[in-house]
Amino acid sequence: MSSPLDSLLSLSKRRGFVFQSSEIYGGLNGCWDYGPLGVELLRNVKEAWWKAMTYRDDIEGLDASILMHPKIWEASGHIGQFTDPMIDNKVSKARHRADTLIEDYIQKLQKKGKNDLATTIESRLNAAEQPSDFHSIIIDEQIPDPVSGTTDWTEVRYFNLMFKTFVGPVEDMSNTVYLRPETAQGIFVNFKNVLDSTRQKPPFGIAQIGKAFRNEINTKNFLFRTREFEQMEMQYFVKPGTEKEWFDYWFEQRWNWFINLGMDASVLRAKPHEKLAHYASAATDIEFLFPFGWGEIEGIHSRTDFDLKNHQEFSGKKQEYVDTVTKERYTPYVIETSVGASRSFMAFLCNAFAEEEVMAENGNSEKRSVLRFHPLLAPVKAAVFPLTSKDGLPEIAEPLYRDLQKTWRVQMDESGSIGKRYRRQDEIGTPFCITIDNQTIVDQAVTIRNRDTMQQERINISTVKEYLSAHI
Ligand code: ATP
Repeated sequence: MSSPLDSLLSLSKRRGFVFQSSEIYGGLNGCWDYGPLGVELLRNVKEAWWKAMTYRDDIEGLDASILMHPKIWEASGHIGQFTDPMIDNKVSKARHRADTLIEDYIQKLQKKGKNDLATTIESRLNAAEQPSDFHSIIIDEQIPDPVSGTTDWTEVRYFNLMFKTFVGPVEDMSNTVYLRPETAQGIFVNFKNVLDSTRQKPPFGIAQIGKAFRNEINTKNFLFRTREFEQMEMQYFVKPGTEKEWFDYWFEQRWNWFINLGMDASVLRAKPHEKLAHYASAATDIEFLFPFGWGEIEGIHSRTDFDLKNHQEFSGKKQEYVDTVTKERYTPYVIETSVGASRSFMAFLCNAFAEEEVMAENGNSEKRSVLRFHPLLAPVKAAVFPLTSKDGLPEIAEPLYRDLQKTWRVQMDESGSIGKRYRRQDEIGTPFCITIDNQTIVDQAVTIRNRDTMQQERINISTVKEYLSAHI
């Protein structure tokens, strides 16, 4: 039997949302290509975020380069500490992230109702720091390899997730640079540039969307954990002492962003970190209920002045705000909101996906696959159907289609029964279908059908654009 994730994967490929990268060469693990509909959906997710985050007074945008000075990653701690614990099974040779192996095991115990044991293991996991701590949990609990079912494990080792490359023709240590594993550091090192070139003063933020790369030990669950992905991050610089109120503010803003784009509160949960990074004063993840269980889609972090102070130390350049009137000076504290564009793309796709029984034109019930995207996210906003290819109907449909195309991505579909055309559009999540029939010639009215309610209404053809604007 296929899982909901399998159905989603097959729909994604069939309708051109997501393809495996380098598929004709057997694929490249952890990388995916966005097809014609996927690229629209991804752009819409990014656009919705960009508007929510930067179309306001206190946030500026930025687009920093992917390759940056290697010292940045020393200052940020990534060279020393951006590691994951890794373990191999001796029988299957399968490699796992030791912490996620334990987390998956905990989720299994919870599903079986063994909550006490799950809690005990969870608190050991939260306290684990050394490779041997992860190893002892796996050995003590006899956690089996999901591939072979055996418990014959190697030791645990730490593995740095940054991809390395070289600048210039000589490949040696002095030319090593890294593909950025997060967009945040590009923001921190431009803090002074933005402060000095705009009229901002704390509290203010800098937002950026861009690619990030992590050499993940295990890539799995489709777009959830990939080696190349996009992040949408914002660092909000505040006066020390006000970080708690801004942390609460940003958590609420970000939670509501998902809700306003059509996610129900029942598929979201807030997960405060039990184990905080040494520099953090608070951290809460927003998790989404994926078909495989709960998974983080966004982190809201209170990072103190850790990053700016470190860049000040490593670069020797002051990273302070000085108030020109009061002469007060301080290194701002930072609240960070960090969300994966690709991971939230997957969450929006899962959230929208439904398979249901509906009444077909012939009166029999049939299965319909539908993507109930919020209209702002839907890759195609409307489809125009001339009922037949004669009687002058295409001549009415064509100018309407061309006019709508000036504003939105729309499709024209002239083939098959109207029922079939509805199903095709439902499957790609088009919120509105507009049918031109013989009656249109008489009364200039068209039928607009709503994807979710499947209700139809007649409106004048001259008001279609207005109608769509109001509903998108
Ligand atoms: P995880 O624990 O799942 O590895 P993380 O805590 O390391 O994630 P952050 O560094 O806080 O994640 O990254 C912020 C966001 O970037 C995550 O919430 C997620 O949406 C996205 N992200 C991180 N790693 C990946 C990845 N390998 N593939 C896709 N998206 C990712």
